[in-house]
Amino acid sequence: MLRTDKMAFTLDSKPQLDVRDLSDSLDNKSLEDVLSWCWDTFGKGAAIGTSFQGSGLVIIDHARKANLDFPIFTIETGLLFPETLALKQRLENLWEVDIESIRPEQTIEEQADTMGKELWKTRPETCCQMRKVLPLQSKLATLDVWITGIRRGQSEERKNTGILELYQFDKLRGNYILKLNPMVNWSREDVWQYLQEEQIPYNELHDRGYRSIGCWPCTKPVGEGQDERAGRWEGFEKTECGIHTFLGQGI
Ligand code: SF4
Repeated sequence: MLRTDKMAFTLDSKPQLDVRDLSDSLDNKSLEDVLSWCWDTFGKGAAIGTSFQGSGLVIIDHARKANLDFPIFTIETGLLFPETLALKQRLENLWEVDIESIRPEQTIEEQADTMGKELWKTRPETCCQMRKVLPLQSKLATLDVWITGIRRGQSEERKNTGILELYQFDKLRGNYILKLNPMVNWSREDVWQYLQEEQIPYNELHDRGYRSIGCWPCTKPVGEGQDERAGRWEGFEKTECGIHTFLGQGI
């Protein structure tokens, strides 16, 4: 859903050009300013999606301190580490928020019955589609803006990410959403310095060599000098779960 009454452009009036201009104008602004712009423009039509990685925590902390009451959601695949689930609870207590858990249609057991046991070992693309992409698509259909913690420095695939992108998240229905990536210019060091200074709890798996943390079957610790996301889907060509790529390139 994209409600054009809130936008400075319409989808049939060169949206690419306008989104890119808007993105360029936001690129040098502070995180506070970008989030405030988003709140003033979209209010609760914008929501923060998080998997509790460092940059998402920075966004939520800034939003809470500035009283920007964005809804927050996470995709609960049923295969998250216990440490990740414990962190979710700690953060909800700290920020006094409810973080909505978006769940797949099938439980792990139901998926094993219909698609075969441990689908992530044989067809991780299908597994991610069922457990992450489809639930996310349903959630995005209720929003105008999806706020993410993507950083350009995370991997080769992410190095050209715009701060604001127009995404067609459902080609069948022709639905678009704005994707706001306010952390694109932050480095990993910037993120960790902030979390330490503000004493924000983080996933304890980071202290055990994990950098990018997703489902437990598909996440391994990362060696020195590797991409932050190198520990995901070890043994497969796959580098993205699809939630940031199923729509094709942002425009
Ligand atoms: S990350 Fe692995 S376990 Fe999680 S949905 Fe994707 S393939 Fe399945």
